[in-house]
Amino acid sequence: MPFEHNKLLYKTLSEATPLVLRDFGVMREKINYFLSNLDYFVTQLETISPKSASDSHGDDCDACVILKNIDMRYRHDIEVFRTHASGCKRLWLKISQANQINFADAEDFVSLSLTSRSMIENSIRSCFLYMNLDIRIYNKYLIESLASFSKLHWSTLPQSFDTKDVSAAITGFESLSNRDRNNSSLYADPQPTFKGKIDYFRQLSKTPGFADFFDDYERMYSAFSDVAHGGAAFLSASNRKGPQIVLACPPDLRFVASAHQLAEMIGVTLMMSQKTIVNFYLPVLIQTLEKIAGTDAMRASLTTMHGQLAAKIVGHSF
Ligand SMILES: [Zn+2]
Repeated sequence: MPFEHNKLLYKTLSEATPLVLRDFGVMREKINYFLSNLDYFVTQLETISPKSASDSHGDDCDACVILKNIDMRYRHDIEVFRTHASGCKRLWLKISQANQINFADAEDFVSLSLTSRSMIENSIRSCFLYMNLDIRIYNKYLIESLASFSKLHWSTLPQSFDTKDVSAAITGFESLSNRDRNNSSLYADPQPTFKGKIDYFRQLSKTPGFADFFDDYERMYSAFSDVAHGGAAFLSASNRKGPQIVLACPPDLRFVASAHQLAEMIGVTLMMSQKTIVNFYLPVLIQTLEKIAGTDAMRASLTTMHGQLAAKIVGHSF
């Protein structure tokens, strides 16, 4: 029986047929619009520096320490949004060339899955850090990063850090039980899993200011993770197989089904990235700063920026 069952599953995967269901010309317009939008979004995010939200009172001021931590994370978030956007742009250029038959291969789907997954996971982690405003959660994030990096036995990179000062801290952290890593005097993580963090925001999303799009988040994260972990369904459904019908729509573009499917994936993830910034990331950051004294000016500029970016996606979907 298990072998029969395997044959059914294997047959389903190996005989998937890529479908073409949407108008490539309409997708092209939307993708071009979204790509220029995201360029603008990222440039706007770059104009903000959370650590300058309040006058620096030095390392003895808890609020200043938190703001520096937020700033470090924020810089990283911008790079993750940018990496996803530039990956989309590169892939879109590849599959929208005039005078050639456009197709996408497995590498394109894997690459887009990885940057999209990273965008989703990173946003959830950052927003969770921001919302909780607990320095112990930042401590755990920093020590985990230092600990894993110090394990790379390469000649140069890990040596860039002077880990002598923190090696005792790393050893101490690694000797803690999971329970203590997630709740002790130095470290905390009230929701250590991705699922826990999603549920945390799903609860909050009942309050105004948060869009209830965490179901989409979870579905996409699961599918993209499957690709990252070597899953076969996604690639079977999208990958180029043997001779395919060449379509032309609009007339200047010729493509096969795999290009159409990659275009759809680019459009969907670009929409998700814009929604993440407008409906989730910026509202969380603004709410977080509300709890930190002396950040009124920065909150005002973030609120203005948020309004401008939100206006650019009103009425748009993919
Ligand atoms: Zn301060």
